Amino acid sequence: MTNDQLMREAIRLSRENIANGGGPFGAVIARDGEIIATGVNRVTAENDPTAHAEVSAIRRAAQVLGTFNLSGCEIFTSCEPCPMCLGAIYWAHIDKVYYANTKDDAKAIGFDDSFIYDELALPRDGRKLPAEAMMRNEAIKAFEEWAAKEDKTEY
Ligand SMILES: [Zn+2]
Repeated sequence: MTNDQLMREAIRLSRENIANGGGPFGAVIARDGEIIATGVNRVTAENDPTAHAEVSAIRRAAQVLGTFNLSGCEIFTSCEPCPMCLGAIYWAHIDKVYYANTKDDAKAIGFDDSFIYDELALPRDGRKLPAEAMMRNEAIKAFEEWAAKEDKTEY
């Protein structure tokens, strides 16, 4: 499939998902022009705040390919990824992001993730979300065990 065809499928999914009780977002993960997996936004339909189209597609693609590393794959998403999905895309090692609607388009219809981008740019103490450090001296033991583990799978 061409890039246009792959994006057109992501857009088709985004529109179909509205009728299925989800948000207007769809994503396609492809490798060498072949669809590996698709995802749609199921946040309200499944009461899962992390069920964005891109995250859903990443979960499926990783299952299909049997790996947590999706390098060699590209993602076609009907809207520019939010910070959570962008982070997931980095973690998945996806090669490239193609997007159609922009985050400003999403903001215009009430899906405003720009505040998260703004928050991320602030120092920890300046954010709206309170975050308090605690019990590092106990938690660090897991990191020490991990660092010493010989047979771990790096990712
Ligand atoms: Zn997202």
